[in-house]
Amino acid sequence: MSLAHGRPYLAIPGPSVMPDAVLRAMHVASPNIYEGDLPAMMAGIVPDLKRVARTDGQVAMYIANGHGAWEAALANTVGVGEEILVAVTGRFGYGWADMAEGQGIKAQILDHGRQSPIDPQRVADALRADTDRKIKAVLAVHVDTSSSSRSDIAALRQAIDAVGHPALLMVDCIASLACDVFEMDAWGVDVMVAGSQKGLMVPPGVSFVFFNARAADVRAAIARVPRYWDWQPRANAEFPYQYFGGTSPTHHLFGLRAALDMIHAEGIEAIWARHATLARAIWAACDVWGDGGPLSLNITAPAYRSHAVTALRLGAPYGSALRTWTDTEAGLVLGIGLGMSEPDDPDGTGFFRIGHMGHINPHMILGMLGTIEAGFIALKIPHGSGAVSAAAQVIAGG
Ligand SMILES: *Cc1c(COP(=O)(O)O)cnc(C)c1O
Repeated sequence: MSLAHGRPYLAIPGPSVMPDAVLRAMHVASPNIYEGDLPAMMAGIVPDLKRVARTDGQVAMYIANGHGAWEAALANTVGVGEEILVAVTGRFGYGWADMAEGQGIKAQILDHGRQSPIDPQRVADALRADTDRKIKAVLAVHVDTSSSSRSDIAALRQAIDAVGHPALLMVDCIASLACDVFEMDAWGVDVMVAGSQKGLMVPPGVSFVFFNARAADVRAAIARVPRYWDWQPRANAEFPYQYFGGTSPTHHLFGLRAALDMIHAEGIEAIWARHATLARAIWAACDVWGDGGPLSLNITAPAYRSHAVTALRLGAPYGSALRTWTDTEAGLVLGIGLGMSEPDDPDGTGFFRIGHMGHINPHMILGMLGTIEAGFIALKIPHGSGAVSAAAQVIAGG
């Protein structure tokens, strides 16, 4: 008999849990898109998004998921046949590089494996070797959601500057924005992409490209930018129709307005601190479990772990078995392992991921950890004891 009835918990790394306030804000009749509440709201959404990104630059919005923002960022900065350098720390780095290849851009890939952050020195070496300065942009994924590796973007900027290379620094913050500390301007990021459905707690379907003046100059020099992806009219919109190159995603915007209100009421620094504490609680539990069983955190060094997603290895077929158990027996959906196949486990069934981004608090995290422990017991997966207490200690400030 399943015990799963009650409010389910979707603990995958996006889409994330939607706050009731966001759901309520979206539950309204179709608004007039030309005048009234919706157009009036737009002027406030832009600066509030920029506050989350910590930038005085500009933002263009798209009716698209993160893949659309990837393509938009490239379409405005890199011409067909030009070159980029992609520092890859997991599946999503490859995904962005693949989008570039599809646009006729040549992507040089620096593969860091799936258990490490970006090595700024390797990026610097690759840029130094580019004596003709052909590389137009360095692409980096801040938190690669497949590996849960988090890279030091400020150090990456310093490495690029040390070489004196003019390439733009373009960063994917789809999994990290409003979860992990990110400072677009202070860290010298030229272009940043984000989506609505992770730290921003809104359904998937809207994405954002933030860019600074340097990137705007690069855009101005590009021979041809596809009209729909062109960030220029969107970022300088004067009437509602221009923000999205057509009809606005009306209900997403009502949800986003509610989410931004929640974010700024809590404060972005407080949100970063909440995610850090809850992430440390999860790691503490995982360390205890791992002491008495096969569980291990994919990223060894805490400094390079995401505060929004945790990739774990249990060994085949335990990962998939655990996910099935927590879903069907307890109403908790855990994330699949992504890009994590191994020679003796081609489907990556030994891995799983915990999404802990956005609208999460101690009772959700402790309940999630306690449920995973029940799954370990039910499935006879060996594990150390006292994990939930260890997490509670962290949350209590111990
Ligand atoms: C989720 C995610 C993406 C892809 O976003 P979609 O909305 O699924 O297109 C890209 N990069 C990172 C880091 C992500 O977490």
